[in-house]
Amino acid sequence: MMQTLTLEQETNPWEAQAARFDFAARKLNLDEGIWKVLRYPAREIIVHIPVGMDDGSIEVFTGYRVQHSIARGPAKGGIRYSPDVSLDEVRALASWMTWKCAVVNIPFGGAKGGVICDPKKMSQGELERMTRRYTAELVEFIGPEKDVPAPDMGTNEQTMAWIMDTYSMHLRQTCTAVVTGKPVNIGGSRGRREATGRGISVVCDEALKYLGMPVEGCRVIVQGFGNVGSNSAKLLAEKGYTIIGIAEYDGGLFNSKGIDVPALIEHRSRAGTIVGFAGAEAADKDELITYPCEILIPAATENVVTSRNADRLRCKILCEGANGPTTTVADEILADKRVFIIPDILANAGGVTTSYFEWVQDRMGYFWTEAEVNQRLDAIMSQSFLDVVAYATSHGVNNRIAAYMLAIDRVAYTTKQRGIYA
Ligand code: NAD
Repeated sequence: MMQTLTLEQETNPWEAQAARFDFAARKLNLDEGIWKVLRYPAREIIVHIPVGMDDGSIEVFTGYRVQHSIARGPAKGGIRYSPDVSLDEVRALASWMTWKCAVVNIPFGGAKGGVICDPKKMSQGELERMTRRYTAELVEFIGPEKDVPAPDMGTNEQTMAWIMDTYSMHLRQTCTAVVTGKPVNIGGSRGRREATGRGISVVCDEALKYLGMPVEGCRVIVQGFGNVGSNSAKLLAEKGYTIIGIAEYDGGLFNSKGIDVPALIEHRSRAGTIVGFAGAEAADKDELITYPCEILIPAATENVVTSRNADRLRCKILCEGANGPTTTVADEILADKRVFIIPDILANAGGVTTSYFEWVQDRMGYFWTEAEVNQRLDAIMSQSFLDVVAYATSHGVNNRIAAYMLAIDRVAYTTKQRGIYA
C-alpha cells in the first residue's frame, strides 16, 4: 500500500510514526476521540537561541521541545543536537517516547527536544552557552514533575550537567531530577551510560531463546559506534556474541572472527574515528549492513533501512538500537523475508528505563549499586520482550505493531480514566 511513496515521503519520521500509530489504533478499534488525542503532540515549543560565538559574532540557533503526552506521568525524552533536526523529527521522537515508556510500563509520558546545530564544529564554550540559553528558554516547561530531558544524539552527560545547573540557578536550589543521564557524582545513576546497550543485549538474549538460536557463533553487525552502538557491541561481545562488523559515518570495519570491541573503543578515543583500526579490515559503511549475520543492530539514526536496501539485508534478527531506523515500506519487505524485528520502542527502551531509575533515586536521595540497577533493568527488559511477543502471537500481528498496540492501549486506558479536562 505504501509502495508509491517518494523516498522523501517514505523517510519522513512523523509520517512513519503516524502510519504505525494509525494501523495499530485501527487494530485496537480505538475510540475515535482518543485516537485524535493520542495522534498529535500536546505541546510544541520553538525557540530561537542567540549564542555568542568564540570569534565574537552572534549566532542564532533554532531549538524545539515537543511534549507528546503527560497522560501516564511527566513527559520524558532526550535532546538531540544535529544539523538534521526538524520539527517533524522531534514530533515523531516525542511520540515514540510515549509509546516506549508505555511498552516498558514506566510512569512517564513522552517528549523530545532538539537544536539545529553541528556539535562537532562547535567549541565546548559555544556548546555550553547554547545549552544554557536553550534551557533558560524552556525553564517553565521542564522540571521533575513536568518534563525530564535526557541525552540523545550529539548530547551527553556534560550537556545534562549544564542543563541541571542552569535550571537549578533559576530555581535557586539544586534540582538534580530535572534531567537524567547526568554524571554519577551529581545525581546520575550507576549503569545509565551503558543502559541502552545493556537493554539491547537483554532483548537479543531473549530473541535467541525465543527463536531457539545459540549465542555461540551468533554474528552481529552494528551501525553507529556512539553511546548505543559501542555499548551494545561491548556487552554483546562479553556475552559471547561475535561482533563481525561495525559501520560509522566515515567508514566500516569487518572481521569474520570477531572485532575486539574494547580495543576498538581505545582506538577510537585515541584516533577520534574507528577508521584505521588494525584489528579488522576496512569495509564499505553502507554495504556492511547487507552482509550476512544473525543480528543487525542499526544504532545510528533514522531511515537507514528503506525500500532502497531492505531486500538486500541478510540478517535473521533486526534489533533497532536507533529510533526509527526502518521505514514502513521496508517493514513490509522485511516481513516477506521473515526477518524477526525487535522494534525500537522495545529494543532501545533500556535507556529510558534506567533514566526512570535515576529520577527515582534523585527524588529519594538514595542511590543504588550498579548491580541493583542492572538487575532491575534486566528484569524489565526481559518481561517487556515477552509481553510484546505474547501480544504479537495472541493478536496475530508483527512485533512492531504488537508493541504499538500494547503501548497505545495502556496510554488510551489512562487517558480515558483521567477524562478530558475542559
Ligand atoms: P551518539 O551520538 O552517541 O552516536 C551515534 C553514532 O552514530 C555516532 O558515532 C555517529 O557518528 C554515528 N552515525 C551517524 N550517522 C551514521 C550513519 N549514517 N552511518 C553510520 N554511523 C552513523 O548517539 P546515541 O545516543 O548512541 O544514539 C543513537 C541512536 O539511538 C539515536 O537514534 C537515538 O535516538 C537512539 N537512542 C539513544 C538512546 C541513548 O540512551 N543514548 C536511547 C534510546 C535510543
